[in-house]
Amino acid sequence: MLKGIGQPAYSGVAIGRAYVYRKQQCDLPASCGDAEQEQQKFDAAKETAREQLQELFDKTKEEIGEEQAMIIDVQVMMLDDLDYLENVADLIQGGASAAQAAHESGECFSAAFAAMDDEYMQARAVDVKDVSTRIVNILCGGQTGMMLEQPSILVAEDLTPSETVQLPKDKILAFVTQQGSFNSHTAILARIMNIPSLVQTKIDLDADIDGKLMVVDGFEGICYVDPDEETLAAMRKKQDEAAEQRNQLEQYRGKPSITKKGQKIDLCANIGSPEDVESALAGDAEGIGLLRSEFLYLGRETAPTEEELFDAYRTVIEGMQGRRVVIRTLDIGADKQVDYFGLEAEENPALGYRGIRICLEHDEIFRPHMRAIYRAAAYGEVCVMFPMITSLWEVREIKKFCAAVREELAAEGIPYGEVELGIMVETPAAAVMSRELAKEVDFFSVGTNDLTQYTLAIDRQNAKLDRFYDAHHPAVLALMDMIAKSAREAGIWCGICGELGADTTLTEEFIKMGYTELSVAPGRILEIRKIICESEVEPQ
Ligand code: PEP
Ligand code: MG
Repeated sequence: MLKGIGQPAYSGVAIGRAYVYRKQQCDLPASCGDAEQEQQKFDAAKETAREQLQELFDKTKEEIGEEQAMIIDVQVMMLDDLDYLENVADLIQGGASAAQAAHESGECFSAAFAAMDDEYMQARAVDVKDVSTRIVNILCGGQTGMMLEQPSILVAEDLTPSETVQLPKDKILAFVTQQGSFNSHTAILARIMNIPSLVQTKIDLDADIDGKLMVVDGFEGICYVDPDEETLAAMRKKQDEAAEQRNQLEQYRGKPSITKKGQKIDLCANIGSPEDVESALAGDAEGIGLLRSEFLYLGRETAPTEEELFDAYRTVIEGMQGRRVVIRTLDIGADKQVDYFGLEAEENPALGYRGIRICLEHDEIFRPHMRAIYRAAAYGEVCVMFPMITSLWEVREIKKFCAAVREELAAEGIPYGEVELGIMVETPAAAVMSRELAKEVDFFSVGTNDLTQYTLAIDRQNAKLDRFYDAHHPAVLALMDMIAKSAREAGIWCGICGELGADTTLTEEFIKMGYTELSVAPGRILEIRKIICESEVEPQ
């Protein structure tokens, strides 16, 4: 039996087969010395890539639609691009291995496409890079995409947000990663999916674990490969006990979340995609308190169109059957990057070009985004909130922008709905300015993940700093108190959508501060409702 110790990012026990996900190997093998052999290797890998892409094309066409599938078709065409193939052949003749030649050609052609004036050609930069990476992966034994056939425990060095959005979610029983942190977006995704997750796990991916029976104990932060009988029995017992506890909470399903003093709290769910509506409903969410729009942009080759966004929002709104949906506008940047916006790499991305800062400067991104939200709002109760606000002028500019979008839709005769406009309070500046900001908006939602990061000057992604990343820090709690007071004074509602909102040791404290909405991972709702229903506290 092999044992790995990690940090629990979400509780629960999972038992299943291990699936080890490897990214592209970084060390590209050198040439064997025979150019002809290297060329043959390249040609064979190219054909395998073609077969894989064909399969992906058929699947995408069937599941997502023709338009998305065409992107894959472009990649298939690149496999026959004479300039590209000539470049590869020249490099191989010059002494490069098949993998080196594919990698270098990918980089060089992608840079050339990116430098072109034509927008369509610029977008091809990603395609040529992607197709080259696929060939390199085939040559080096790395993987492109998940090839999960049965429900499995996913074991990986780390997963980027882009990788996580492409996961076949119905086939994942648990996450075990060597890297990652409690506050990373991958851990957040595990919470939405309601499956155990370990980060910072000391486990050797080269040990023979792929396909072996594995147990993840998300309570203790331990995983076992090939567990002995005794461990397996103990873990099965723990799994049953957890199920029993969940059963006990079932009595709170369908009940309103009201304290004994009559204070109503809206208990909502955090989600990242239309698929997650199912989890939100299964968790008995009273609405969506945070729909992270950027997940609709990740793991793709091009930005979603207004139509695609509209469809995604409408699916969520209709799926929530009359419950309120709070859409957070695109918060790309920091750890959530997309290639197709062509943004420059930054020294300090968390303090850089992210969230509303990008939207306010890129009409071509913000306009279709807001149009899609307003159009979808015709189908239910929608609130929209903006991330990373620091100043009053930003809010005023956003309000003007929204008014213009409404006018534009009206002039075009396109139906749209009214939405409440709110902001995420997740920077110390917004917290300190909350009195003034509260006069400008309809609601606040506190992003405690970033509020903690920026208040304490601690990178939320850096697991080394987990000991110092203390969301209970008095400075954070004092700001939260200040934010709630400002909201109450201005007569607007105020919620919490960061991870701290699910911290049951603080639920009563939040009610006392005056928060009336908590948005949490769907699997936590009943547990928090129990606390609210049993509570005697009231806003002070
Ligand atoms: C937050 O910062 O608390 C938040 C909810 O937003 P995100 O985690 O997506 O940055
Ligand atoms: Mg945030």
